[in-house]
Amino acid sequence: MLNIVLFGPPGAGKGTQSQQLIDRYQLVHISTGDLFREHIKKGTELGKKVVEFNNNGILVPDEITIAMLKGMLDENKNANGFIFDGFPRTEAHAETLDRIMSGNATAIHAVLSLDVSEEEVRKRLQIRRDAEHRPDDEESKVNRRIEEYFNKTIHVLPYYNKQGRLTRVNGIGDISQVFNHICDKVDSARPAKA
Ligand code: AMP
Repeated sequence: MLNIVLFGPPGAGKGTQSQQLIDRYQLVHISTGDLFREHIKKGTELGKKVVEFNNNGILVPDEITIAMLKGMLDENKNANGFIFDGFPRTEAHAETLDRIMSGNATAIHAVLSLDVSEEEVRKRLQIRRDAEHRPDDEESKVNRRIEEYFNKTIHVLPYYNKQGRLTRVNGIGDISQVFNHICDKVDSARPAKA
């Protein structure tokens, strides 16, 4: 198995890099944000519970998020590995993830932070918005997600850093250059029999 956690603010290129990692290493993508949005769209019981949090950019309570995450892991027992995107968001999540993985006789092998400054992501997202003519509502949601990343999620990085498990990747540059850099890091972190 090969399990990767990918950090990065909205607009850092995490979606693109995740997709390429999934294709190269045959991983299952676990994006808690995408999973919540799917539940909301389908109108499931879980979706009804999380819609208000999601609309307001507030973290969904841990018991809901973690139960959903465990469900995804159980449904994909034979996977080659996972890429976690949008989870962990707190140090408590990171500890829980380590416990869950070791309970499944595996571990998080690589923790990557795709580094792009707040100023740069705001610039990129403005360009994207101008090109796609997205509504203002979308802009305020994106702004909240950027703030959440730089004010909160970023504080999870020291948890991995102090254990020597964090790799920072410069997210500025062309897509394939960033991807090659990420792959070098993943290849040196992956277990012998992934
Ligand atoms: P994202 O697409 O990752 O920015 O997530 C969108 C929204 O889903 C967040 O603002 C939260 O309401 C919720 N969410 C996503 N991931 C998590 C998580 N790990 N813990 C709690 N809430 C989450």
